[in-house]
Amino acid sequence: MLGMMQNWQLTCDKILTHAKVNHPDRFVVSRQLDGSITRTSYGEIYDRSRRLSSALIKRGIKLGDRVGTMAWNNARHMETWYGLMGFGAICHTLNPRLHPNQLKYIINHAGDRMFFLDLSFVPLLEAVQAELSSVQTYVLMCSRDQMPQTTLPNAVCFEDLLAEGDDDVVWGGFDENTACGLCYTSGTTGNPKGVLYSHRSNTLMAMTCAMPNMMGVSGTDTCLMVVPMFHANAWALTFTAPMVGMNLVMPGPMMDGASIYQLLDSEKCTVSAAVPTIWLMLLNYLEETGKKLPYLNEVLIGGSACPRAIMETFDKEYGVTVIHAWGMTETSPLGTAARVQPEIEDLPYEEQLSYRLKQGVPPYIVEMRIVDDAHNELPKDGRSSGHLLVRGPAVSNAYFGAENGSILDEDGWFNTGDVATIDPLGYMQITDRSKDVIKSGGEWISSIDLENAALGHPAAAECAVIGLPHPKWDERPLLIVQLKPGMEATPESFYEFLTGKIARWWMPDDVVFVEAIPHGPTGKISKLELRKTFKDYKLPTI
Ligand code: AMP
Repeated sequence: MLGMMQNWQLTCDKILTHAKVNHPDRFVVSRQLDGSITRTSYGEIYDRSRRLSSALIKRGIKLGDRVGTMAWNNARHMETWYGLMGFGAICHTLNPRLHPNQLKYIINHAGDRMFFLDLSFVPLLEAVQAELSSVQTYVLMCSRDQMPQTTLPNAVCFEDLLAEGDDDVVWGGFDENTACGLCYTSGTTGNPKGVLYSHRSNTLMAMTCAMPNMMGVSGTDTCLMVVPMFHANAWALTFTAPMVGMNLVMPGPMMDGASIYQLLDSEKCTVSAAVPTIWLMLLNYLEETGKKLPYLNEVLIGGSACPRAIMETFDKEYGVTVIHAWGMTETSPLGTAARVQPEIEDLPYEEQLSYRLKQGVPPYIVEMRIVDDAHNELPKDGRSSGHLLVRGPAVSNAYFGAENGSILDEDGWFNTGDVATIDPLGYMQITDRSKDVIKSGGEWISSIDLENAALGHPAAAECAVIGLPHPKWDERPLLIVQLKPGMEATPESFYEFLTGKIARWWMPDDVVFVEAIPHGPTGKISKLELRKTFKDYKLPTI
């Protein structure tokens, strides 16, 4: 027997429609490329997004068509998201930090029919456009007076395109499982892979993000959305904010400490979300200037492990609570958040901190388990470390262009490529990535923990650890260090520094110093590159 409830499809157009009806005046602030600030509201964004839909339909874009965007976080980008998704076109966000060859591959692979870009990316697109087979029109996201000369074929100004549309457009009306957004994951290995979100998965993730045990936001909040709209679905915030009526502040291209501080302060932001690097820059700026954060209550930190020093400094110096979170492009992306659960509420600060520094507990829509190499489930004892598998309605089941190539095991689990423990209270902790794993004498060494520990050395700017082959132990760790400008250090000083902070058998077999640690397009350390560089390096312990 079926329940007798309405069949109300969870499509993303309904999110902005809800904002238009219920909180049309909540604001959206954007920093433009020239640093100036513009203000709009969900009501205006709704009206303009619908006109954009109408214009796109008139130009022949239809349900299921992919349209690329390369833009910073700003209101026009948000209008483009909803303008496309509203009538079932697929918004394909691209990461401008990718190598041009990867961009060409991705745009051609996605078959983008149109391309929206901020003016900063005109030269980049001009350089590759001749090799883009599917793009027919380029939309420059600027006002008429900012429209530049360009060699991009069929270039049109965003505002002119908007003027081609009208209010006579139908949003929604398609199945909630219809594709909605496309985001290729960072390609440190092989070709990038397209994660294809659905309206349903985005809606469920937006509701999940707002839950009190995840980001816990509401209409009383103002959010500085630093996490880029081109990375991992902007952590669902482009949907969560209009859904709950939270004001949204978007930093455009300026993410240095001073610019971030200025927006946090002038817009009285109560929450924010970004990777650790951003917070390091802000904390440095605050230390230099002696400024404080009177309005900010909480920051969501994820994308890579949150260093202890960041969490402690936010706690002790600024009274800001850090919520450490973990996720992946393939998980829409929020997979866990490390909030204080009632079981640890009364613990002393240090003990509680050790839980908060873990990656956290999954929300209702994410199932999680760890398994050994033979796929046997491992106990949730906080010690057993294994492959982290996830399952849920906002987790990918295949990559775009390979719809028949399931990426799940026979029980429907997706292997995250991360290695983790889960403790008896359910807190998951990433101990490594399987592609990075250092297995020494049959036991895991966490390169991430080693890197974090070594980073505490006063001369270290950045640290990376890779495993190198060893005849006795199979693999042993090599610590690669980029020193702070003008600083000097010896390998011995690192050994001395690490002694007592890590298990003795974790001690790196060697320490080498490099000019610069290489990064992939999303800013993560490129272990692939480092493994190539040190392919023939012989450890002194052999
Ligand atoms: P991406 O799909 O590019 O967002 O990368 C996802 C990967 O980043 C995860 O599989 C993890 O390896 C890593 N990651 C994300 N959040 C965290 C975190 N809080 N701590 C450690 N690693 C993280």
